[in-house]
Amino acid sequence: AKADGRGTFRYFEPDMDAKMQARRVLELDLRKALLNGEFEVYYQPLINIAEDRVSCFEALLRWNHPLRGQLLPDDFISLAEEIGLISQIGAWVLRQAAMDAAEWLDDIRLAVNLSSAQFKGLGLVQDVVVALEASGLPASRLELEITETVMLHDTGNTLAILHKLRELGVRISMDDFGTGYSSLSYLRKFPFDKIKIDRSFIGDLPGGGDAVAIIKAISGLGASLGMTTTAEGVENWAQLDKLRLEGCTEVQGYLFSPARPASQLADLLSYALGS
Ligand code: C2E
Ligand code: CA
Ligand code: CA
Ligand code: CA
Repeated sequence: AKADGRGTFRYFEPDMDAKMQARRVLELDLRKALLNGEFEVYYQPLINIAEDRVSCFEALLRWNHPLRGQLLPDDFISLAEEIGLISQIGAWVLRQAAMDAAEWLDDIRLAVNLSSAQFKGLGLVQDVVVALEASGLPASRLELEITETVMLHDTGNTLAILHKLRELGVRISMDDFGTGYSSLSYLRKFPFDKIKIDRSFIGDLPGGGDAVAIIKAISGLGASLGMTTTAEGVENWAQLDKLRLEGCTEVQGYLFSPARPASQLADLLSYALGS
């Protein structure tokens, strides 16, 4: 077994080099991407179930890489965090998305994802203020989505920053709810406006009793805490029916639309369920 282990190690060595090489190349590309205008914000609709209409669009970042084609966040966000670029990129997303959203109807909100690294220092509040002022988008139409890693990596000022953002009139959503270890305790630390139920729970719907019980519990929890609930990753009508039944506020997923470029939202801006 030992000999095998050594052989395996030697076998993987060139592979590791190739991986690190590829990472270094991607890092250099990433450092130029903002300046070269290679980022693009896509938008995926959130549908309010009771009102049968689009209530919000979530901004999802895409990188149009000149050689590799379009890259998804999972290919580059963690790298951007590691090399200290995420705050700059995040500020750009806020500005671009706010400008796009200012063109939509007044009752449609914009949701933007934040990385925990954007909570280091005090730049985030300024970035949000600049984005709102430059675009004319009212603060009440902006929702910021954070995952529990933001609370987990709290260096002391995360809650203060969240409260400052709230004072501006911005809404705060807890993303990927239920996937971490302490989602519930974070609900007590900060009064979120919205809970986004992670799509791993929706995938099990309509299915057995457990999945339904969990959705019912989270929707009930949200309602009693005065928070709205959004179900992510809704892919079929059976899931939508269950979510409607359990009192979920909003739904989001491929059943309605994947994320699209800003120029391709016209039909969604007048979307009605079932029509
Ligand atoms: P997220 O915030 O949980 O966003 C939802 C992800 O699920 C998106 O992937 C979306 O395209 C995908 N999705 C939507 N509907 C469905 C569905 O019905 N089924 C399935 N299987 N998937 C669905 P995407 O765009 O690849 O984004 C991945 C993650 O990257 C996001 O997860 C978010 O955490 C992060 N991200 C995206 N944009 C930004 C950004 O501007 N800044 C930061 N910091 N993170 C971002
Ligand atoms: Ca999100
Ligand atoms: Ca999510
Ligand atoms: Ca996620």
